[in-house]
Parts: sequence; C-alpha cells; structure tokens
Amino acid sequence: MDPQQGTKPGFRNDGHEHESCIEDALARADALCRGRGVRLTPLRRRVLELVWGSHRAVKAYDLLAALGEGVGAAKPPTVYRALEFLMGQGLVHRIDSLNAFVGCPVPGRHHSAQFLICGSCGEVSELNAPSIDRAVARQAADSGFAVSRQVIELHGKCPRCTAPPPSA
Ligand SMILES: [Zn+2]
Ligand SMILES: [Zn+2]
Ligand SMILES: [Zn+2]
Repeated sequence: MDPQQGTKPGFRNDGHEHESCIEDALARADALCRGRGVRLTPLRRRVLELVWGSHRAVKAYDLLAALGEGVGAAKPPTVYRALEFLMGQGLVHRIDSLNAFVGCPVPGRHHSAQFLICGSCGEVSELNAPSIDRAVARQAADSGFAVSRQVIELHGKCPRCTAPPPSA
C-alpha cells in the first residue's frame, strides 16, 4: 500500500476522522517495524498512539502523565527510550523549538521534513518539499558549509485559525 495513501500534505480538514487516522498510523508502524525486523513493543506502540492522540506536538511529560494513569505506570527513562526508538524509526519527529513530539504521517520514506506549527491551536503539519531542501543545500554549499542536520520549523497560524469566524 502506498504509505501516502489517505494522507495529504497540509492541515487536516473538517471532515478528518481522527480515529481512523490513529489506526492507520499504528498499522503503518506495525508494517514498517515488521519489515525492518525491529520490535514495536506494547509500550512503544502505546507511546506512538499517545503521540498520535492529536495533531499537536506533545510534550514528554504529557505522555508520562497519560501513561501514569493505567496499570503498570511507565517510568520516565522507559518513555524516553520508547521515544528514542520511535524517532530512530522515523515514526515520530521532535519539534526542537517546542521540545515536543509529533507523529510522522509518511514514515519509511526518505524525507527531511519542514514543520508548519500553528501558534494558536498548536497543530503541526509536515511538509516534505524537495525544492526547499535543494535551495538550502545550494546556499549552504555556496558558503562552503557542510550540512549534517536540517530542521526547518515555521511558526504561524493554520488555515482554521486564520479563517474569520462565521458571521452570525
Ligand atoms: Zn488525524
Ligand atoms: Zn516525517
Ligand atoms: Zn491553528
């Protein structure tokens, strides 16, 4: 199945069914981990599910709080290790400027993401625009600079938060 199926770049629209969105994300993670021969343990899967709880970036302590409610509450190092694993597999991205985490809608594909971060509702959308990569690489090369890591985080307002309120 095309991993991009069911997802499109940009912010979710009004008809978005988040339940199936989470299910799809977990199914993609299962398939990807199976294919790579790595283990998506119940805790790792649960952490991924919690990260996908919304399209906002989630702080580690919110994950801890959520995991603390169930039986066998998870210890911080365990949760951080789970996040490390998920990031290592490209299933989750870290938003550096927020020190928070967001699920990747297109794991398993080579990409260097650019993130659009709404300051009003907190929603994060991921762009994978090769033209941006190329422009950055070219400018860096012109400066004789070797790029080892590239993260672009753009802060602003999403379409829903920019839209005028419906007139009464
Ligand atoms: Zn969703
Ligand atoms: Zn991604
Ligand atoms: Zn917004």
